[in-house]
Formats: sequence, structure tokens, C-alpha cells
Amino acid sequence: MFQDIGPYVFHNEYSSRKPEEDDILIVQKGRDILMNCGQTLPTVAQVRAVCSLAAEQAYYLLSIDEKHFFCTDVQVPETENLSYTSVMILREMNPGYMGFGGSVSWQLASWYDLHRYCGRCGTKTEHSERERAIICPKCGHTYYPRISPVVIIAIVDGDRILLTRYNRGGYRRHSLVAGFVEIGETLEDAVRREVMEEVGLHVKDIRYCESQPWPFSSSLIAGFFADVDGDPTVHLNTDGQDELAEGVWVSRDELVLEDSGMSLTWDMIRKFKEKHPISTIA
Ligand SMILES: [Zn+2]
Repeated sequence: MFQDIGPYVFHNEYSSRKPEEDDILIVQKGRDILMNCGQTLPTVAQVRAVCSLAAEQAYYLLSIDEKHFFCTDVQVPETENLSYTSVMILREMNPGYMGFGGSVSWQLASWYDLHRYCGRCGTKTEHSERERAIICPKCGHTYYPRISPVVIIAIVDGDRILLTRYNRGGYRRHSLVAGFVEIGETLEDAVRREVMEEVGLHVKDIRYCESQPWPFSSSLIAGFFADVDGDPTVHLNTDGQDELAEGVWVSRDELVLEDSGMSLTWDMIRKFKEKHPISTIA
């Protein structure tokens, strides 16, 4: 999956290290990120070639082996080589470990960007020098990176799995029922609620399968299998922007794997296809 970058090793522990010329520099602008000819993430040196960037204006984020990622809130102008493009380009980046490191870096850079002022008292915030945190110098509130949990559910009815298709975005592959966990819910509550809301089914024997960090929505996705309980007739939710366009039962034999295996969704669908024990027994 996307986060499986071995033999490279991901290091997310905080460090106060300073940037060097060949370190990677993440410059985010909303959901866009600065890229080199649309191909690679720029280095500190490449950005310094077009604008001034003092060492204290770059903040350490993470490392993959000896490749260090920093971000800055300096406004970097576009040039012939440097331009802003959708962060989603990193999902398919080659090599994959740079796509993963770049997107988690973008997630952190976005979090810093969204917390430039204290949400409680409006004072300009500061970066902690001891840990990955943002501190308000006036009221003392400390902000830590926030992760939004999501559940993805593979609903099974004997030898069939329920595949869905959403109307949102440009993503046209099949998917599984999914949604954010709401305040006050357990993961299992969220599974039952999302399934009922999206496809009008009751489920039982909810079982955890695996998880995936998903930087593009600052999420941690938890994948579950669940068996349909009672009538398997699908009633699609057709309200709202995230309405489902399709919800179909597909048998193991007819199931075609549409994805290279980057996403948890398709890893779970593959597990069903290959009769992984978690997909077949409750
Ligand atoms: Zn404050």
C-alpha cells in the first residue's frame, strides 16, 4: 500500500535540525504543492535560487532514511521550472517513498499553515522547540497535529462483496462504503451508521482488517469487514454532495482488481478475492 515504502525507513519523530541545501522543501498553497517541472519535489537550494530563505524560515518535518523534508511559509514565486500543482500528484509519484514522504510533509505543512494564529485568543502562534507542537505565547494553549479517523467497510454477503461508486471528484473506480467517524462514536458505531446511511443495510460481525494513513485528508483509515444482516437489497443514499452513484453486489468470480494495490480499499477487495480468512469468517 501507499505507506509501505520498505526498504526505506520513515522517521516522524521531531527534531530541531536546520535545513541543508539538498534537503527537500515543501511549499504548500492550499491543496497545491510546489513542484519541479511537475516531476520532483524541490530542494532548499532550488528554492533559494529564486527567493531568499533563511535557515530559521524552514521547519523540519520528517525524514526517510537520510532524505530530510522541511517546509516554509515563505511565498515562493512560480518560475519556468517551479510551479504549483495538486498535491494528489504525489499519490502516483515515482519513486513511491518520495510520494509518501511528500504527502505526509504536505499534511504537516498544511497543519502549520492552519494554525498561524491561536484559535482561542487570536495571537500569532509559535513553533515549539521541544516537540511537534504549536504554542500560543499569550494564553499558553498547545496545538498538536490532528488526525481525522475514517472507516472503510467491505460488506460481504456470502460469496458477494458490495462495491460502490461515488459522484465526487474525478475518481471513477469502484470503491467501498466509507466515511468520517463522528464525534462520540466508536469505530464500530461509525461502521453501522455509514452502512445504513449510504446503502440502507444492517451489518453484523464487524471485524477489523487493517489501517492506512491518508495524508491527503489528514486521515487514519480503519478498514473493516462486516456481514450483511438480513435483507441484502441496496437502498442508495441520493442526498447531498457525497451521494452514491452506484452500489452493486459482485461475486468473487466476477470481481476484477482495478487498482495497483496502493489503497486500503483495493487491498481489502483483493483480500476478499483471494479468500483471506478475515473476509470469509466472522
Ligand atoms: Zn492563545
